[in-house]
Amino acid sequence: MTGLGRGIAEPEPVSDPTDEWAAHEDAGGANTPDGTSLVQLHESIATLLASRGQWRQAYQHLRSALELVHADKTEAPHIPEQLRREVDRLRREHAEAREQSIRDSLTAGYNRRYLDQRLVTLLADRHSMTGGLAVALVDLDWFKQVNDTFGHLIGDRVLQRVVDLLQDGLADDAFCARYGGEEFALVLPGVDGPTAVAMAEAARIKIESYPWSKIVLGLRVTVSVGIAHEPPLSLGSTPERQLRHADGLLYTAKQSGRNAVAYHVGGRTFLAGPAAGRRAVTESRALAY
Ligand code: GH3
Ligand code: MG
Ligand code: MG
Repeated sequence: MTGLGRGIAEPEPVSDPTDEWAAHEDAGGANTPDGTSLVQLHESIATLLASRGQWRQAYQHLRSALELVHADKTEAPHIPEQLRREVDRLRREHAEAREQSIRDSLTAGYNRRYLDQRLVTLLADRHSMTGGLAVALVDLDWFKQVNDTFGHLIGDRVLQRVVDLLQDGLADDAFCARYGGEEFALVLPGVDGPTAVAMAEAARIKIESYPWSKIVLGLRVTVSVGIAHEPPLSLGSTPERQLRHADGLLYTAKQSGRNAVAYHVGGRTFLAGPAAGRRAVTESRALAY
């Protein structure tokens, strides 16, 4: 049977139309692709356009696909090069738009939208994650003073550097997202409570010991951290609940003198590292999660 006869009657599922095209080229058939590829190219464009809300153009491509399926073809349809380029362009734009929609423009880290989306998925999956899921809220100490003393542009540079430091050395599935203003969320999947606290404390130390005065003489930056750990088998947790828990502990870290990591074990609140010697000033807000 020729490629023509096979083409429209029995379309084979192909996930990537550009791969399909490459297969034709490999087979030496770049100028005589079969009808299935053209149908799928139209469908791909329609899907990408629909995902951007361009319903009318998506509909037109679907119609073109349908017409091809129903047409009684006697010769191989010609796939215009322009069509293939359009698929590539739409794919690129789609990927770029998706990337921009989840990035924070100042720090180039992830933004709150990404954080919210990922937390829902991660919490749903935590039963299969050994160790559970930790979320740390990291807030710069006395940051208003940094702006007031050194100016907003230096403040912006500090935020960018803090994100670099928080992201440095993270596991592939861990990430840092800007939670708002000068506050960031560090999400650590698959780690147990003590490991999560050790990682948050290491991040705090890294920020404290960074040579900030190289940016401007006299600059010093520290952070306070509240870390909420959700074990794999805990029931009924939500992203809001875990973030509220971390926020309460962040408040404790601030109230206890700042530049500290606060966490909970067995209903009690503790400070990590050298701050452990201080008294953890626990407000009811820190426990009401
Ligand atoms: P605390 O230790 O209690 O957190 O004190 P703080 O001064 O850090 O907290 P406060 O909430 O009083 O001030 C936060 C400051 O963060 C005020 C705001 O102008 C600054 N800020 C928020 N977003 C940005 C930003 O994108 N760039 C700069 N430069 N500053 C920002
Ligand atoms: Mg602050
Ligand atoms: Mg803040």
